Amino acid sequence: MNTPKLFIVIPCYNEQEALPITAKRLVELTDDMLKKGLIDPGSRIVLVDDGSKDDTWKVITELHEGDSRFEGVKLAHNAGHMNALWAGMTLSAERCDCVITIDADLQDDVNAMYGFLEEFRKGADVVYGVRSSREKDTFFKRTTAQGFYKGMRKLGVDLVYNHADYRLLSKRALEALLSFGEVNMFLRGMVPMLGFKTAQVYYERGERVAGESKYPLKKMIAFAAEGVTSLSNRPIRWVLGLGAVCALLGVAMAVYVIVSLVQGRTVAGWASMMMSIWLLGGLQLMALGVIGEYVGKVYMETKRRPKFILEEHLK
Ligand code: UDP
Ligand code: MG
Repeated sequence: MNTPKLFIVIPCYNEQEALPITAKRLVELTDDMLKKGLIDPGSRIVLVDDGSKDDTWKVITELHEGDSRFEGVKLAHNAGHMNALWAGMTLSAERCDCVITIDADLQDDVNAMYGFLEEFRKGADVVYGVRSSREKDTFFKRTTAQGFYKGMRKLGVDLVYNHADYRLLSKRALEALLSFGEVNMFLRGMVPMLGFKTAQVYYERGERVAGESKYPLKKMIAFAAEGVTSLSNRPIRWVLGLGAVCALLGVAMAVYVIVSLVQGRTVAGWASMMMSIWLLGGLQLMALGVIGEYVGKVYMETKRRPKFILEEHLK
Protein backbone atom coordinates (compact mmCIF):
# COMPACT_ATOMS: atom_id res chain seq x y z
CA MET A 1 0.00 0.00 0.00
CA ASN A 2 1.18 3.53 -0.74
CA THR A 3 1.79 5.88 2.15
CA PRO A 4 -1.65 7.07 3.24
CA LYS A 5 -2.89 10.62 3.07
CA LEU A 6 -3.79 11.28 6.68
CA PHE A 7 -6.23 14.02 7.70
CA ILE A 8 -6.23 14.91 11.38
CA VAL A 9 -9.52 16.57 12.34
CA ILE A 10 -9.63 18.73 15.46
CA PRO A 11 -12.75 20.42 16.84
CA CYS A 12 -11.89 23.70 18.55
CA TYR A 13 -14.23 25.67 20.75
CA ASN A 14 -12.60 28.61 22.52
CA GLU A 15 -9.19 26.98 22.34
CA GLN A 16 -6.98 30.03 21.80
CA GLU A 17 -4.69 28.99 24.66
CA ALA A 18 -4.37 25.34 23.74
CA LEU A 19 -4.18 25.64 19.96
CA PRO A 20 -0.68 27.09 19.57
CA ILE A 21 0.75 24.35 21.77
CA THR A 22 -1.29 21.67 20.06
CA ALA A 23 -0.31 22.93 16.61
CA LYS A 24 3.37 22.86 17.49
CA ARG A 25 3.09 19.29 18.78
CA LEU A 26 1.29 18.21 15.63
CA VAL A 27 3.85 19.85 13.37
CA GLU A 28 6.60 17.90 15.14
CA LEU A 29 4.56 14.74 14.95
CA THR A 30 3.67 14.98 11.27
CA ASP A 31 7.25 16.05 10.39
CA ASP A 32 8.47 12.87 12.03
CA MET A 33 5.82 10.77 10.29
CA LEU A 34 6.77 12.29 6.93
CA LYS A 35 10.45 11.65 7.59
CA LYS A 36 9.71 8.04 8.46
CA GLY A 37 7.61 7.70 5.33
CA LEU A 38 4.47 6.85 7.31
CA ILE A 39 2.20 9.45 5.72
CA ASP A 40 1.86 11.18 2.37
CA PRO A 41 3.03 14.81 1.98
CA GLY A 42 -0.57 15.65 1.03
CA SER A 43 -1.64 14.96 4.62
CA ARG A 44 -3.49 17.75 6.40
CA ILE A 45 -4.45 18.98 9.84
CA VAL A 46 -8.04 20.25 9.72
CA LEU A 47 -8.88 22.71 12.48
CA VAL A 48 -12.62 23.21 12.88
CA ASP A 49 -13.60 26.36 14.72
CA ASP A 50 -16.93 25.51 16.29
CA GLY A 51 -18.22 29.07 16.52
CA SER A 52 -15.66 30.16 19.13
CA LYS A 53 -16.12 33.44 20.92
CA ASP A 54 -12.41 34.04 21.50
CA ASP A 55 -9.50 34.37 19.06
CA THR A 56 -9.46 30.74 17.98
CA TRP A 57 -10.20 31.60 14.36
CA LYS A 58 -7.42 34.16 14.28
CA VAL A 59 -4.99 31.54 15.55
CA ILE A 60 -6.23 29.09 12.92
CA THR A 61 -5.89 31.66 10.12
CA GLU A 62 -2.31 32.39 11.15
CA LEU A 63 -1.46 28.71 11.29
CA HIS A 64 -2.93 28.21 7.83
CA GLU A 65 -1.00 31.13 6.40
CA GLY A 66 2.26 29.94 7.94
CA ASP A 67 2.01 26.28 7.00
CA SER A 68 -0.06 24.80 4.18
CA ARG A 69 -0.65 21.57 6.07
CA PHE A 70 -3.11 23.41 8.31
CA GLU A 71 -6.62 23.79 6.99
CA GLY A 72 -9.18 25.99 8.68
CA VAL A 73 -12.90 25.41 8.81
CA LYS A 74 -15.13 27.95 10.51
CA LEU A 75 -18.65 27.05 11.51
CA ALA A 76 -21.11 29.90 11.59
CA HIS A 77 -22.30 29.08 15.11
CA ASN A 78 -21.49 26.77 17.99
CA ALA A 79 -22.84 23.53 16.53
CA GLY A 80 -21.40 21.32 19.26
CA HIS A 81 -18.52 18.87 19.52
CA MET A 82 -20.17 16.10 17.46
CA ASN A 83 -21.28 18.40 14.67
CA ALA A 84 -17.86 20.04 14.52
CA LEU A 85 -16.29 16.60 14.10
CA TRP A 86 -18.87 15.78 11.45
CA ALA A 87 -18.04 18.99 9.58
CA GLY A 88 -14.31 18.27 9.60
CA MET A 89 -14.80 14.68 8.51
CA THR A 90 -17.22 15.63 5.74
CA LEU A 91 -14.74 18.12 4.30
CA SER A 92 -11.87 15.62 4.49
CA ALA A 93 -13.59 12.50 3.18
CA GLU A 94 -12.93 12.99 -0.51
CA ARG A 95 -9.26 13.84 -0.21
CA CYS A 96 -7.99 11.50 2.48
CA ASP A 97 -7.09 7.82 2.80
CA CYS A 98 -7.75 7.89 6.51
CA VAL A 99 -8.82 10.39 9.11
CA ILE A 100 -7.93 10.70 12.79
CA THR A 101 -10.10 12.78 15.12
CA ILE A 102 -8.59 14.19 18.30
CA ASP A 103 -9.48 16.91 20.80
CA ALA A 104 -7.70 20.24 20.69
CA ASP A 105 -6.44 19.96 24.27
CA LEU A 106 -4.10 16.99 23.66
CA GLN A 107 -5.46 15.08 26.64
CA ASP A 108 -5.16 12.12 24.32
CA ASP A 109 -1.59 11.09 23.63
CA VAL A 110 -0.67 12.01 20.04
CA ASN A 111 1.99 9.29 19.98
CA ALA A 112 -0.81 6.73 19.88
CA MET A 113 -1.24 7.83 16.25
CA TYR A 114 1.80 5.75 15.34
CA GLY A 115 -0.13 2.77 16.64
CA PHE A 116 -3.24 3.86 14.73
CA LEU A 117 -1.30 4.01 11.46
CA GLU A 118 0.34 0.66 12.16
CA GLU A 119 -3.08 -0.98 12.64
CA PHE A 120 -4.40 0.81 9.55
CA ARG A 121 -1.49 -0.54 7.54
CA LYS A 122 -2.33 -3.99 8.83
CA GLY A 123 -5.81 -3.57 7.41
CA ALA A 124 -7.99 -2.13 10.17
CA ASP A 125 -10.70 0.28 9.00
CA VAL A 126 -11.53 1.54 12.46
CA VAL A 127 -8.90 2.02 15.16
CA TYR A 128 -10.12 3.05 18.62
CA GLY A 129 -7.93 4.98 21.00
CA VAL A 130 -8.62 3.57 24.45
CA ARG A 131 -7.61 5.23 27.70
CA SER A 132 -5.70 2.78 29.81
CA SER A 133 -6.09 4.97 32.87
CA ARG A 134 -7.95 8.13 33.77
CA GLU A 135 -5.91 9.18 36.76
CA LYS A 136 -5.47 12.67 35.39
CA ASP A 137 -9.21 13.24 35.16
CA THR A 138 -10.95 14.59 38.23
CA PHE A 139 -12.62 12.00 40.47
CA PHE A 140 -16.01 13.36 39.46
CA LYS A 141 -15.33 13.17 35.71
CA ARG A 142 -13.88 9.70 36.03
CA THR A 143 -16.74 8.15 38.01
CA THR A 144 -19.50 9.79 36.01
CA ALA A 145 -17.85 8.82 32.72
CA GLN A 146 -17.36 5.20 33.78
CA GLY A 147 -20.89 4.99 35.15
CA PHE A 148 -22.10 6.26 31.80
CA TYR A 149 -20.28 3.54 29.84
CA LYS A 150 -21.71 0.85 32.11
CA GLY A 151 -25.22 2.31 31.96
CA MET A 152 -25.13 2.52 28.18
CA ARG A 153 -24.12 -1.11 27.96
CA LYS A 154 -27.14 -2.03 30.11
CA LEU A 155 -29.29 -0.11 27.64
CA GLY A 156 -27.99 -2.32 24.86
CA VAL A 157 -25.74 0.26 23.23
CA ASP A 158 -22.45 -1.06 21.94
CA LEU A 159 -19.76 1.31 23.22
CA VAL A 160 -16.02 0.74 23.42
CA TYR A 161 -15.15 1.11 27.10
CA ASN A 162 -13.03 4.18 27.85
CA HIS A 163 -12.90 5.23 24.23
CA ALA A 164 -13.89 8.79 23.45
CA ASP A 165 -13.64 10.39 20.03
CA TYR A 166 -9.97 9.70 19.45
CA ARG A 167 -9.97 7.25 16.58
CA LEU A 168 -8.82 6.50 13.06
CA LEU A 169 -11.26 5.79 10.27
CA SER A 170 -10.31 4.56 6.83
CA LYS A 171 -11.82 6.35 3.85
CA ARG A 172 -14.48 3.72 3.35
CA ALA A 173 -15.40 3.56 7.05
CA LEU A 174 -15.65 7.32 7.02
CA GLU A 175 -17.87 7.32 3.94
CA ALA A 176 -20.11 4.74 5.56
CA LEU A 177 -20.37 6.79 8.72
CA LEU A 178 -21.16 9.94 6.77
CA SER A 179 -23.99 8.16 5.01
CA PHE A 180 -25.88 7.98 8.32
CA GLY A 181 -28.76 10.39 7.95
CA GLU A 182 -29.45 11.10 11.59
CA VAL A 183 -29.37 14.57 13.02
CA ASN A 184 -29.30 13.53 16.67
CA MET A 185 -26.00 11.78 16.71
CA PHE A 186 -23.65 10.23 19.14
CA LEU A 187 -20.55 9.22 17.20
CA ARG A 188 -19.20 6.82 19.82
CA GLY A 189 -22.32 4.73 19.49
CA MET A 190 -22.51 4.98 15.70
CA VAL A 191 -18.98 3.89 14.82
CA PRO A 192 -19.37 0.38 16.29
CA MET A 193 -22.46 -0.02 14.09
CA LEU A 194 -20.30 0.28 10.97
CA GLY A 195 -18.73 -3.13 11.24
CA PHE A 196 -15.43 -3.39 9.32
CA LYS A 197 -12.18 -4.63 10.82
CA THR A 198 -11.38 -2.83 14.05
CA ALA A 199 -8.40 -2.53 16.37
CA GLN A 200 -7.64 -0.81 19.66
CA VAL A 201 -4.62 1.18 20.73
CA TYR A 202 -4.10 1.97 24.43
CA TYR A 203 -2.66 5.19 25.77
CA GLU A 204 -2.46 7.21 28.96
CA ARG A 205 -4.91 10.07 29.27
CA GLY A 206 -3.19 13.30 30.24
CA GLU A 207 -4.23 16.73 31.40
CA ARG A 208 -5.37 19.57 29.19
CA VAL A 209 -2.33 21.41 27.77
CA ALA A 210 -4.07 24.75 28.35
CA GLY A 211 -7.47 26.32 28.82
CA GLU A 212 -10.50 24.85 30.55
CA SER A 213 -12.84 21.97 29.85
CA LYS A 214 -15.58 22.90 27.37
CA TYR A 215 -17.83 20.31 28.93
CA PRO A 216 -19.42 21.76 32.05
CA LEU A 217 -21.86 19.54 33.93
CA LYS A 218 -24.84 20.86 31.99
CA LYS A 219 -23.27 19.89 28.65
CA MET A 220 -22.16 16.54 30.04
CA ILE A 221 -25.70 15.66 31.07
CA ALA A 222 -27.08 16.79 27.72
CA PHE A 223 -24.39 14.72 26.00
CA ALA A 224 -25.26 11.61 28.02
CA ALA A 225 -28.99 12.11 27.42
CA GLU A 226 -28.28 12.44 23.70
CA GLY A 227 -26.37 9.17 23.81
CA VAL A 228 -29.23 7.34 25.47
CA THR A 229 -32.15 8.75 23.54
CA SER A 230 -30.48 8.73 20.13
CA LEU A 231 -29.32 5.13 20.38
CA SER A 232 -31.52 3.12 22.71
CA ASN A 233 -35.24 2.50 22.94
CA ARG A 234 -34.94 0.30 26.01
CA PRO A 235 -36.30 2.83 28.51
CA ILE A 236 -39.62 2.70 26.72
CA ARG A 237 -39.67 -1.09 27.06
CA TRP A 238 -38.95 -0.82 30.77
CA VAL A 239 -41.91 1.50 31.11
CA LEU A 240 -44.04 -0.95 29.15
CA GLY A 241 -42.99 -3.76 31.49
CA LEU A 242 -43.68 -1.64 34.53
CA GLY A 243 -47.07 -0.73 33.06
CA ALA A 244 -47.92 -4.41 32.61
CA VAL A 245 -46.99 -5.22 36.22
CA CYS A 246 -49.09 -2.33 37.48
CA ALA A 247 -52.05 -3.37 35.36
CA LEU A 248 -51.90 -6.82 36.97
CA LEU A 249 -51.74 -5.24 40.39
CA GLY A 250 -54.74 -3.13 39.41
CA VAL A 251 -56.73 -6.29 38.59
CA ALA A 252 -55.89 -7.78 41.98
CA MET A 253 -56.90 -4.49 43.55
CA ALA A 254 -60.22 -4.54 41.71
CA VAL A 255 -60.98 -8.04 43.02
CA TYR A 256 -60.16 -6.89 46.53
CA VAL A 257 -62.36 -3.85 46.18
CA ILE A 258 -65.32 -5.90 44.90
CA VAL A 259 -64.95 -8.39 47.75
CA SER A 260 -64.80 -5.53 50.24
CA LEU A 261 -67.88 -4.01 48.67
CA VAL A 262 -69.84 -7.27 48.96
CA GLN A 263 -68.79 -7.58 52.58
CA GLY A 264 -69.92 -4.00 53.18
CA ARG A 265 -66.47 -2.63 53.98
CA THR A 266 -66.77 0.18 51.47
CA VAL A 267 -64.46 2.58 53.22
CA ALA A 268 -61.54 0.21 52.75
CA GLY A 269 -62.58 -0.29 49.11
CA TRP A 270 -62.62 3.39 48.48
CA ALA A 271 -59.09 3.71 49.83
CA SER A 272 -57.75 1.00 47.50
CA MET A 273 -59.54 2.57 44.56
CA MET A 274 -57.98 5.88 45.28
CA MET A 275 -54.59 4.23 45.53
CA SER A 276 -54.89 2.51 42.18
CA ILE A 277 -56.06 5.70 40.52
CA TRP A 278 -53.00 7.42 41.80
CA LEU A 279 -50.74 4.56 40.87
CA LEU A 280 -52.02 4.21 37.34
CA GLY A 281 -52.29 7.93 36.83
CA GLY A 282 -48.65 8.32 37.76
CA LEU A 283 -47.58 5.50 35.51
CA GLN A 284 -49.51 6.80 32.57
CA LEU A 285 -47.88 10.14 32.95
CA MET A 286 -44.45 8.53 33.10
CA ALA A 287 -45.14 6.48 29.98
CA LEU A 288 -46.39 9.53 28.17
CA GLY A 289 -43.21 11.34 29.11
CA VAL A 290 -41.01 8.65 27.65
CA ILE A 291 -43.11 8.30 24.51
CA GLY A 292 -43.01 12.06 24.15
CA GLU A 293 -39.23 11.92 24.24
CA TYR A 294 -39.12 9.57 21.27
CA VAL A 295 -41.84 11.40 19.39
CA GLY A 296 -39.65 14.46 19.84
CA LYS A 297 -36.76 12.59 18.28
CA VAL A 298 -38.84 11.53 15.29
CA TYR A 299 -39.91 15.11 14.91
CA MET A 300 -36.32 16.33 14.91
CA GLU A 301 -35.26 13.69 12.39
CA THR A 302 -38.01 14.64 9.98
CA LYS A 303 -36.71 18.20 9.92
CA ARG A 304 -33.51 17.05 8.19
CA ARG A 305 -31.70 20.13 9.35
CA PRO A 306 -28.16 20.65 8.11
CA LYS A 307 -25.68 19.44 10.69
CA PHE A 308 -23.56 22.51 10.30
CA ILE A 309 -23.61 25.72 8.34
CA LEU A 310 -20.29 26.44 6.73
CA GLU A 311 -18.95 29.92 6.86
CA GLU A 312 -15.49 29.51 5.39
CA HIS A 313 -13.18 26.75 4.27
CA LEU A 314 -9.51 27.58 3.84
CA LYS A 315 -7.54 25.12 1.75
N1 UDP B 1 -15.67 21.25 21.60
C1 UDP B 1 -16.33 21.72 20.47
N2 UDP B 1 -17.57 22.30 20.63
C2 UDP B 1 -18.20 22.40 21.84
C3 UDP B 1 -17.52 21.86 22.98
C4 UDP B 1 -16.27 21.31 22.82
O1 UDP B 1 -15.82 21.64 19.36
O2 UDP B 1 -19.29 22.94 21.90
C5 UDP B 1 -14.33 20.64 21.44
C6 UDP B 1 -13.24 21.21 22.32
O3 UDP B 1 -12.64 22.35 21.74
C7 UDP B 1 -12.29 20.05 22.43
C8 UDP B 1 -13.21 18.84 22.38
O4 UDP B 1 -14.43 19.29 21.83
O5 UDP B 1 -11.39 19.98 21.33
C9 UDP B 1 -13.42 18.21 23.74
O6 UDP B 1 -13.73 19.19 24.70
P1 UDP B 1 -13.05 19.23 26.13
O7 UDP B 1 -11.62 18.83 26.02
O8 UDP B 1 -13.33 20.55 26.75
O9 UDP B 1 -13.86 18.09 26.88
P2 UDP B 1 -13.36 17.17 28.09
O10 UDP B 1 -12.03 16.61 27.71
O11 UDP B 1 -13.29 18.07 29.28
O12 UDP B 1 -14.42 16.12 28.18
MG1 MG C 1 -10.47 17.51 26.99
